[in-house]
Amino acid sequence: MPIYEYQCKECEARFDLLRPMNASDDEVKCEFCGSTEVSKLLSAFAATGTVSNSGSIKSCPNYNGFT
Ligand SMILES: [Zn+2]
Repeated sequence: MPIYEYQCKECEARFDLLRPMNASDDEVKCEFCGSTEVSKLLSAFAATGTVSNSGSIKSCPNYNGFT
């Protein structure tokens, strides 16, 4: 699955999402502020060769941040 990179227009945070090709145009929510005003950046597509440990890409669904 390709990795897509998005930037939030609200808080300007960048984040990567791993999603199926046929879902690439689905609505994306900012992981940080929840805004759907995000723009898709160029696909990172499995990184540029040096990334072997992709642990940081996956975000834990149980992590809700500090409120
Ligand atoms: Zn945001």
